[in-house]
Amino acid sequence: VMAEKLDLISKCIRTFYDFPTKGIVFKDICPILKDPKALAAVTDLFEEHVRRRYPQVDLIVGIDARGFLFGPLLAQRLGVGFVPVRKKGKFPGPTLSVAYSLEYGTAEAEMQEDAVSAGEKVLIIDDLLATGGTLYAACELIKQQKAEVLGCLVVIELKSLNGSEKLPSTPVFSLIQY
Ligand code: AMP
Repeated sequence: VMAEKLDLISKCIRTFYDFPTKGIVFKDICPILKDPKALAAVTDLFEEHVRRRYPQVDLIVGIDARGFLFGPLLAQRLGVGFVPVRKKGKFPGPTLSVAYSLEYGTAEAEMQEDAVSAGEKVLIIDDLLATGGTLYAACELIKQQKAEVLGCLVVIELKSLNGSEKLPSTPVFSLIQY
């Protein structure tokens, strides 16, 4: 059943070369969203992993923008809350921020100051792990709040970029690897 779900998901991932800039091999997850069985398969596999490995999780933290597509579905399944991490300047009220570098360009990640409390146990979710800069910044935001990052969840991991090496103390769970 798990192999069938993974097969369904991988068939819904499209590759675009030289987007958004030359040399980038862009993995497009939009066909997953368009296929209700594939989207349910993603949520099922994440849910099974979290229930087995992280039953103590308090919150799912999702990364702007494609982490927002998968994170709330998983959080609802688990019966826990969802918190967004966004690009700079999007949140009202007091925020925390961390600067980081991307596979293409640089950015600043922000979270609302009251979104995560000290001691909470958090899983971070995004569509894809490339160089790991984005997930590293999200981990730093959680640590600034004195909360605990249990691990990271991604649909796709680009293994050749060694992103998990940027997150040595944080296990990364991926559904599909390239
Ligand atoms: P990184 O910080 O390098 O791990 O980049 C991960 C973030 O950038 C994720 O939020 C992805 O959505 C996006 N991203 C980076 N590289 C790609 C790629 N090759 N295909 C699709 N999205 C990517």
